[in-house]
Amino acid sequence: MVFENIDFEKSISELNQSPKDVGSEVAFVGRSNAGKSTAINSITNRNSLAKTSKTPGRTQLINFFKVNENKRFVDLPGYGFAKASKEKQKSWNRLVTNYIKYRQSLKGVILIIDIRRGFGEMDLMFLDFYLPLNKQLHILLTKADKLSKQKQSLILNEAREIYGSIATIQIFSGTKKIGVTEAQDQVIRILESTK
Ligand code: GDP
Repeated sequence: MVFENIDFEKSISELNQSPKDVGSEVAFVGRSNAGKSTAINSITNRNSLAKTSKTPGRTQLINFFKVNENKRFVDLPGYGFAKASKEKQKSWNRLVTNYIKYRQSLKGVILIIDIRRGFGEMDLMFLDFYLPLNKQLHILLTKADKLSKQKQSLILNEAREIYGSIATIQIFSGTKKIGVTEAQDQVIRILESTK
């Protein structure tokens, strides 16, 4: 499967606006600025695909991208915007958690973690919520180009020790194209999983 025909489908602010819940979806999650858009762009080999999700008014919506008739990428709003009000953060929570909980076609999540910052409070809260759902999880330790090879593998090994039994984890850099093929393979694995 290649993603060259991927295209923006729609943004939603209410679950009932979602595309029909059939086929399979992979969702991208992470704190704002972790590198989610850059990761989506490099995995799809499309330089400005995820820009759509960054246009004003869209950053707090769920954005759907269609790969083909029955496969979609889903860009979830980044958690922890400095500027969002408490009310907006709550509605982020409700929209996203309900989407993740009830969406039949959601096969798995790609969690984006800035390798230098590691797992933050929101990432851990996300994992607490997500893991009991028993869906697939793949973690990208991104912006790896900012660390030495030695430091990268140290952190990867640490992360695998802690999360290796519940997730696959890799080193990644969207800007320096590190681990892109591995990430593509994982996305395909999730989209093709039958669970
Ligand atoms: P998002 O808010 O999670 O979608 O994050 P973006 O993809 O917009 O990235 C946030 C900032 O981090 C931007 O300035 C990117 O250029 C930078 N960035 C993203 N990925 C990488 C990476 O792999 N390496 C480096 N060095 N910078 C990155």
